[in-house]
This record gives sequence, C-alpha cells and structure tokens, in this order.
Amino acid sequence: MATTVKLNTGAQMPIVGLGTWKSPPGKVTEAVKAAISAGYRHIDGAHVYENEAEVGEGVRAMISDGVVKREELFIVSKLWCTYHEKSMVRKACEKTLSDLKLDYLDLYLVHWPMGLKAGSALFPVDSEGETMNDNSSFLETWEGMEELVDAGLVKAIGISNFNKAQIEAILNKPGLKYKPANNQVECHPYLNQAKLIEYCQSQGIAVTAYSPLGSPDRPWAKPEDPSLLEDPNIKVIADKHKKTSAQVLIRFHIQRNVIVIPKSITPQRIQENFLVFDFELTEEEMKTILGFNRNWRVCAMQLCKKHKDYPFNDEF
Ligand code: NDP
Repeated sequence: MATTVKLNTGAQMPIVGLGTWKSPPGKVTEAVKAAISAGYRHIDGAHVYENEAEVGEGVRAMISDGVVKREELFIVSKLWCTYHEKSMVRKACEKTLSDLKLDYLDLYLVHWPMGLKAGSALFPVDSEGETMNDNSSFLETWEGMEELVDAGLVKAIGISNFNKAQIEAILNKPGLKYKPANNQVECHPYLNQAKLIEYCQSQGIAVTAYSPLGSPDRPWAKPEDPSLLEDPNIKVIADKHKKTSAQVLIRFHIQRNVIVIPKSITPQRIQENFLVFDFELTEEEMKTILGFNRNWRVCAMQLCKKHKDYPFNDEF
C-alpha cells in the first residue's frame, strides 16, 4: 500500500500527516518532533491556527538534528480568508514562511472559498456581530496563488472547503495556469464525501480528509453530538484487527487514496495514529463504514452562512 499520493504536479504527498489546529503553541513543537520521530513526513498547518512559529521550531529542530532533510518533509499551510484580495496573497504566504522560518511550502491552500474583510481581526465582525465580508472573488485569489508557484515560494497550490461548483469555476477559469493539486475537506464515516471525492479524483485533484477522528476537541462540541471514537460499530471492526478505533478511522481514508491528517499533541497517540500501514480493512468493512454516513459536520463555519461563497448549501 502506497504511503504517498501523487499530486498533479508530480510530487508525492505523504498519505498521513499531523494536524495542528488547536495544538497550543506551548505543546505543538514537541508534537511535531514526536511525529517526525514516529515517521510522519507531512505536517498540516495554517496561519489562523496561530501556532506556525512553534510548528516551524519543531520542524527545524528535526532538520538541524539530522533526523530529516527539508526535502523529505511535506509542509502545508493555508491562506486565511482575510487575505483573499489578489494583492495580499503574497504577503500572507511570506508571513507564514517567516513564522515557520522556511523558504518554501510544499503545498499552500486557499483555506475557505469566502473572503473576509482585510485587517487585523481573523474573524472581522461589525457592531451587530455580523461577519464582515470583502468584495474579492476566489478566482482572483487563485491568480494570486498561481503567482506564488512562479515565485518559487510554494511547490503546489490547492483549495480547502470548496464545493464541486466552486472547483468547476476554477477549472473553467479563462487563463487558468495551474489546476488545484489538492482539496482539503472534512471527511470521516459520518460525512464520507463519496461524491466530492469521486469528482475531485476524476479531475486529478487529490483529496485530504480533515477532522478524521471527528474533532473531539472542537470548541463547539456538545455532549449530545455523535462520537466517532466511541462508536461501538467502529470499535467492533477495530477489535477484529486488534487495532484502535482511531487507527480504523485513519485507515479508512488510506484505502480510498485519500490523505488524512489526524491531530494530536499526545506522543503516544501521535505514534498510534501512524501505525496504520500493517493491516487492511476488507471490502465488506469499507462498505459497512461507508454506510455510517449521516452528513454530520464538525466545521460548518456557521458564521459565514450568508456569504456569497459559503460552500455548504450545495449537496456537495
Ligand atoms: P481530529 O479529528 O484529528 O481530532 C483531534 C482530537 O482527537 C484531539 O482532541 C486529540 O487529542 C484526539 N486524538 C488524536 N488521536 C487520538 C487517538 N489515537 N485516540 C483518542 N483520541 C485521539 O480533529 P481536527 O479537527 O483537529 O482535524 C485534524 C486536522 O485537520 C486539524 O488539526 C487541522 O490541521 C486540519 N483541519 C483543517 C480544516 C480546514 O478548514 N481545512 C478544518 C479542521 C481541521 P490530543 O491532541 O489531546 O491527543
């Protein structure tokens, strides 16, 4: 079983990466080091996680200790919504690179299709508490992203949380220079994204699954929400393979050729989440897991529901 997915740029993207949303700055450096020691070669970050300097510290420590070389790592970051104006894209990417203290990214994603008002607030709101949008179009944002490739700041560009119509709009854009290499979307057995994955893969766009464990540490979790890690039906399958539920939830993506980025700051779990290459779910088990779909979203981005580019009103 391949441990990488080939992108439309020719690059090999490691199929398991470390997520870093909600990883506190004081913990994430050690988490990144533990991950690289355990064999991870892919780290998923973003400006909006407000920990990129500490992520970079972990990466650079492992490089200077001789554990890995920069070119063996696959470092991902994302353009935040308040930098969607074409003229701001390069500055945003340079800020991420200077926080990480790296000179290129392997992949840079447009974090969400919606542009928000530029300024110091990551989530700008007006006096009524309404989210403030900008007038940008993600098609222009994409042109800014293409310039980053030409400038050598990033090896590949992609998108995140884009629906099918939005992806089509990019693919059909007059003068398109680079197709998105990757679409990073929420994906797990309760939101299996069968149609979106099929569409992306048919267009040569690799898919990454975020919140693969159901994001139990999401700030808006409610006690009555469903829990993937505690789902007895997942546990039955895990027990059969003498694996944990987390390992089954991660393995599920690998067998769909979908990249997966579980987040943890706990060294033992970071190791556990990488021990997913020594077993295989049967076709029957994959079908059973696909049957758990219930269109349940961790990241619905409710505060942007009225935005013209809000992605989740379409079926997929
Ligand atoms: P995950 O589904 O990865 O769940 C993370 C939670 O699961 C943490 O509480 C972690 O605890 C716990 N956990 C990790 N491993 C295990 C295990 N083996 N057993 C039990 N519990 C475990 O959630 P995320 O929402 O963080 O998604 C993963 C990554 O995807 C993000 O960190 C981010 O990089 C990316 N992402 C991207 C988004 C986008 O818009 N593009 C949106 C959301 C996520 P602990 O850390 O305490 O060990």
